[in-house]
Amino acid sequence: MKILVMNCGSSSLKYQLLDMENNKVLAKGLAERIGINDSLLTHQAEGKEKVKIQRDMKNHKEAIQLVLEVLVDKEIGVIKDMKEIDAVGHRVVHGGEYFTDSVLIDDEVIKKLEDCIDLAPLHNPANIEGIKACQQIMPGVPMVAVFDTAFHQTMPDYAYIYPIPYEYYEKHRIRRYGFHGTSHKYVSMRAAEILGRPIEELKIVTCHLGNGASITAVKNGKSIDTSMGFTPLEGLAMGTRSGSIDPSIVTFLMEKEDLTAHQVVDILNKKSGVYGISGISNDFRDIENAAFNEGNKRAMLALKVFAYIAKKTIGAYAAAMGGVDAIVFTAGVGENGPEMREFILEGLEFLGFTLDKEKNRVRGKEAIISTEDSRVKVMVIPTNEEYMIAKDTEKLVKGIK
Ligand code: ADP
Repeated sequence: MKILVMNCGSSSLKYQLLDMENNKVLAKGLAERIGINDSLLTHQAEGKEKVKIQRDMKNHKEAIQLVLEVLVDKEIGVIKDMKEIDAVGHRVVHGGEYFTDSVLIDDEVIKKLEDCIDLAPLHNPANIEGIKACQQIMPGVPMVAVFDTAFHQTMPDYAYIYPIPYEYYEKHRIRRYGFHGTSHKYVSMRAAEILGRPIEELKIVTCHLGNGASITAVKNGKSIDTSMGFTPLEGLAMGTRSGSIDPSIVTFLMEKEDLTAHQVVDILNKKSGVYGISGISNDFRDIENAAFNEGNKRAMLALKVFAYIAKKTIGAYAAAMGGVDAIVFTAGVGENGPEMREFILEGLEFLGFTLDKEKNRVRGKEAIISTEDSRVKVMVIPTNEEYMIAKDTEKLVKGIK
């Protein structure tokens, strides 16, 4: 079975074509600047050179048309006919409380997705546009929606209800939803496989540390708490996002700096986090370079703040689960940043692990980085959201075929 995985952003579209018989990525690529000028498609077929195609893409439909064109192209393509694509898996950011798992898309599902736009105004519209465009171009091909929020729907009410008047939950569905669910699910499953133990008996803290960052407590294979909340702004300090701060700072800043609520939230989303503290960059490589090689104090402070909040969150989730068997690092910084991993783990040894500094040098590869005799295992597991989306799609589509 060949499955096309789609991840539509407001002006971009990431795709992968996977062959599920042998778990192979046949091709992958990225369409950028959709609806803006100078749109560009970067496409790479397995074992071939990357190609860049500059062509106007006015909307997602035109972008998807171009993607299919290159997939069947004689030179740079990987299939002979569009009909070889058995199903499409779409990443959807917000499934609200409707979706606790991936789902086959029909009109009813699309209605519910539209209902969730309020909860994810930046993401869901692009996701829906991508789905509708695919339906037009590939009529009859089954499509599946895989949600960032679904994995976290197992949280108990006391973890997802905010201590504000309950009527706001009833009226506006304000609660913790959590994000990066596909990634947390994938790495926790892989961790259990690598450890050779059933996930149903493990307590795992998964740390997805990229530009956006979140940590999840996965108990017996289920998410029981996660650091992102009503929106992906809550929780850890991130590349440009503040994470959790005292909500009163919002009104204070509005008054002192003569800003609107919208402007303050924009600052908390785009100008804060390690970028806001360091004043240098949201890229951890730049910040680490400034901190370690140039002695930049604010860069060092940004790293310390990031690590400290992550450390506290890991400790909190060990408490929430009544212990921990494994701590997993994934995503850009989690997979590639030995220094940051060491920063975060320093002082957490009381949980029951010793970091093997030599093994911790690993970048972008699955590895256990705690010492052999550690009761608690610390692991690096590269995330693979596309594979997870394709797997869920395959499962649901096989059910109808
Ligand atoms: P997202 O998908 O949320 O945009 P990623 O998971 O791709 O983010 O992570 C991006 C972050 O990972 C960047 O801040 C980048 O600096 C960091 N990163 C990537 N490679 C390295 C590295 N070798 N060392 C430290 N940080 C790295």
